[in-house]
Amino acid sequence: MRVLKFGGTSVGKPERMQAVAELVCQDPAEHKIVVLSALSGTTNALVEINQAFSTNDKNSALNRIKALEKHYEGFIKGLYSAEQSMQQAAQMLKDHFDYIRSFAEVIDFSETEEKILLAQGELMSTKLFHIYLEEQGQLAVLMPALEFMRLDPDNEPDLTAIEEGLAKQLQKYERYNIYITQGYICKNAEGDVDNLKRGGSDYTASLLGAAIRAEEVQIWTDIDGMHNNDPRIVKNTFPVAELSFDEAAELAYFGAKILHPATIHPAQKYNIPVRLLNTMQPEAQGTIIKNTSSDEHIVKSIAAKDGITAIKIKSSRMLLAYGFLRKVFEVFERYRTPIDMITTSEVAVSLTIDDQTHLPQILDELKIFGTVEIDQDQTIVCIVGHRLTEETGTAELIFRSLGQIPIRMISFGGSHYNISILIPTAYKSDALNALNEGLFKSADWV
Ligand code: ADP
Ligand code: ASP
Ligand code: MG
Repeated sequence: MRVLKFGGTSVGKPERMQAVAELVCQDPAEHKIVVLSALSGTTNALVEINQAFSTNDKNSALNRIKALEKHYEGFIKGLYSAEQSMQQAAQMLKDHFDYIRSFAEVIDFSETEEKILLAQGELMSTKLFHIYLEEQGQLAVLMPALEFMRLDPDNEPDLTAIEEGLAKQLQKYERYNIYITQGYICKNAEGDVDNLKRGGSDYTASLLGAAIRAEEVQIWTDIDGMHNNDPRIVKNTFPVAELSFDEAAELAYFGAKILHPATIHPAQKYNIPVRLLNTMQPEAQGTIIKNTSSDEHIVKSIAAKDGITAIKIKSSRMLLAYGFLRKVFEVFERYRTPIDMITTSEVAVSLTIDDQTHLPQILDELKIFGTVEIDQDQTIVCIVGHRLTEETGTAELIFRSLGQIPIRMISFGGSHYNISILIPTAYKSDALNALNEGLFKSADWV
């Protein structure tokens, strides 16, 4: 069985959703799980509605709800041809939007309400798609993600619970070939509606792929695979045909938006290939991510992650001392804040974090060890490739390309497929374009 995930833009227009239906029904005898995101723009709109409710700006919330509802009314007119489907969808949408509006009555709008509100996008898109497949005479079933997508008490996906819950659903609907479900949404350990964070439908797809030991997970989006650089910033990027799990995981974690940062891990655990494909250009080869790496190119791709804070702790107590780094790391552990990059000298250590939730408390505790300095608005630029650090000349080429761009930290040798550089975010575009010129234009080297 395969898992096919379609993102927001892939279902964001009636004709796009129809094209998705065609792709899904191409091989009707094959069992498949279809994971859908909300229609593009919906989750952003729901975030805004949530913000308006949480600041008690009910008028703004109700106006935004009205605009979103209007968008959906137009959408179904373009999607269905049968009056019956149209009526069924209109009633379904009315129920959802009445429900969303009912949050105006909530006095203490909390995170619980927020999560329920954010779940409405995927709930609606999957119902719209299901009604469309039924209109087309397809035997498809809607399998509610809230029945089996579970988080553990640490708010991490609980793969065992997911496996068990999904198996029950698949058994219940054995006679169907197409199982439609919602990406992104889940329930937490308390049984409340929750989500896998923004862009989380990719993660749903790989978790489901792992749960059923799928033959393949396909992530269908609006671009023909993982490109060699961020196409939102650099012109003339091109798709990379093959990546290893490790290479793809680094790129996803360090900002390649095409994949949710955690997507690769469940697939890698069970060696399930992940294929990135373009809904607008289904015949394009895309990118295959699997357990081996092709050595066709040394540098494969470059990604960048913003919102990074660098923290420097300088202490003479570090000199010739052991146990110092452990004490520093324990502070971050206490506040459950992951560290991304780290560099040391004899008397100082610099490290980076992207979660600033507990930054003030972390800084207070670190000050016990010495002088602490922070640099905010930093970006990690991550260069990923095959045996990158084993190849002589890579570092020279990277630093020559970066020219006058100020570098705050460098991480080389942590793994043989990644070199990371920390720069001020203001230089991100210049850095990505300069690296593109330097690393991909000198064709004989890459
Ligand atoms: P979806 O809605 O299908 O989940 P996303 O918008 O989340 O799609 O991801 C696809 C987008 O990721 C592309 O349109 C592209 O702009 C962006 N992107 C960023 N970095 C890369 C990259 N290295 N390769 C391909 N796409 C990338
Ligand atoms: N709809 C969610 C979002 O926009 C999840 C996803 O699209 O993957 O973040
Ligand atoms: Mg996405």
